[in-house]
Amino acid sequence: MTVPELTLNDGHGIPQLGFGVFKVDPEQTERIVSDALEVGYRHIDTAAIYGNEEGVGRAIAASGIPRDELFVTTKLYNDDQGTDSAFAAIDTSLTKLGLDHVDLYLIHWPAPARDLYVDSWKALEQIRERGQATSIGVSNFLVPHLKRLLDETDVVPAVNQIELHPYHQQVDVTRFGKDYDIATEAWGPLGQGKYPLLELPKIVEIAGLHGKTPAQVVLRWHLQKGHIVFPKSNSRERIAENFDLFDFELAAEQQAAITTLERAGRVGGDPNEVN
Ligand code: NAD
Repeated sequence: MTVPELTLNDGHGIPQLGFGVFKVDPEQTERIVSDALEVGYRHIDTAAIYGNEEGVGRAIAASGIPRDELFVTTKLYNDDQGTDSAFAAIDTSLTKLGLDHVDLYLIHWPAPARDLYVDSWKALEQIRERGQATSIGVSNFLVPHLKRLLDETDVVPAVNQIELHPYHQQVDVTRFGKDYDIATEAWGPLGQGKYPLLELPKIVEIAGLHGKTPAQVVLRWHLQKGHIVFPKSNSRERIAENFDLFDFELAAEQQAAITTLERAGRVGGDPNEVN
């Protein structure tokens, strides 16, 4: 099973499908990430605030998989925004991960009340130059936050990782991303299980037609939209299910039917208010 690789605006590749570890218990992380690596995932999405970078690092070390076959993302948390604190934060994350660089380092939230995301971004530019991150990007940035970075700094973010699922598609942000070659990473691709996405009749019907599960249909919709996704699960069975997406294709009308489910239904925090 080959996961497609997308090319970011800095020329580096990223596997379009990965494994996310938000809310994965730090005590369980090594085992669960080891399961994901055994299933075949090579892209892991973590964050300093998840508290499980050490477990991710242990799983990577134990796997014996060559470093250049892995893609690891972590994120700068709001409390660490600013220049010197960002430099300290990447050092801490790399120590916890047991790595000398991550493939992608993100500003986790714009945290506009702190008004530090421009300074933080300039720090990430230096972190990239030092080789501690191969690519740099942002997360939860809305169009005004992105515009400000483009106006005031030198490097266009390689990705913007945003809440995105059929109920909340963020068309304005994704269109801006297309215009400026900022790849869209969809967090909460399954809506975090916070609304009955996988029971919606249209999704269940399409799943039945393909002999796949509703989760596989929703993840396939993301892939065909061009999103990068890293669904999370603690269960090895679902980890394998969420990786088994490459033996079917949604027809244009099925893809369109899922797109019509938009409800402006954010299930996570509002980027203007998370600080
Ligand atoms: P998700 O949409 O991946 O949902 C995860 C939940 O869906 C699981 O807990 C499980 O209950 C359910 N699920 C998973 N696979 C399933 C299956 N096959 N069938 C039925 N139910 C299934 O939500 P998420 O974990 O929040 O998002 C994915 C990743 O995105 C995270 O792990 C994290 O890496 C990242 N993320 C980033 C941010 C951010 O602010 N940048 C925020 C949230 C998540």
